[in-house]
Amino acid sequence: MASTAALTTSSLLRRSRALRGHVFPKPLPNPSSINLARPPPALLRPRRFMCRNAASGNEEAAAKAAAKIADTGAPTIFDKIIAKEIPSTIVYEDDKVLAFQDVNPQAPVHILVIPKMRDGLTQLGKAEPRHAEVLGHLLFAAKLVAEKEGIVDGFRVVINNGPEACQSVYHLHLHVLGGRQLKWPPG
Ligand code: 5GP
Repeated sequence: MASTAALTTSSLLRRSRALRGHVFPKPLPNPSSINLARPPPALLRPRRFMCRNAASGNEEAAAKAAAKIADTGAPTIFDKIIAKEIPSTIVYEDDKVLAFQDVNPQAPVHILVIPKMRDGLTQLGKAEPRHAEVLGHLLFAAKLVAEKEGIVDGFRVVINNGPEACQSVYHLHLHVLGGRQLKWPPG
């Protein structure tokens, strides 16, 4: 009875954290119950490379697929947003950057800040000296967005770089997150 109660409490906690966007991987199985001939997939992969998301649970596969075409020059969904071919809720715009609400928010405030010209900046790891100015501009725009959204006293800026960081769109973007107590370390 006590163990059922503990299990219920733990699964409720996991569920409530997942709903708030926290990464909270399932506990690994009891070692004595593992069949070494057929170990569970979770044990075959280093945990630090597991990207989980409350919405899809499949961020890792999506990130790997996106990385395969990252540098082919193929347009991304953000090109359509910049061209206003698909709708987005824009919160800030100037001649160099565009900031809009994330379609799958991980916090009450979750804004993406992107350069209007990708210019090879598929990801931060591809930055070259010529990008220094736009990189500074993006960071300053993130601060303006935080002010506009009323979170300037407590917010986080995130850049996911590459498949191991679960980057899924290969057009550089800053995530501006806030509006709730953010935890550290991130998932
Ligand atoms: P990444 O995983 O590459 O760091 O972040 C990509 C972000 O783009 C994700 O948070 C995802 O929710 C967001 N996103 C993907 N497609 C769309 C879209 O069509 N509209 C908006 N507003 N956000 C999108």
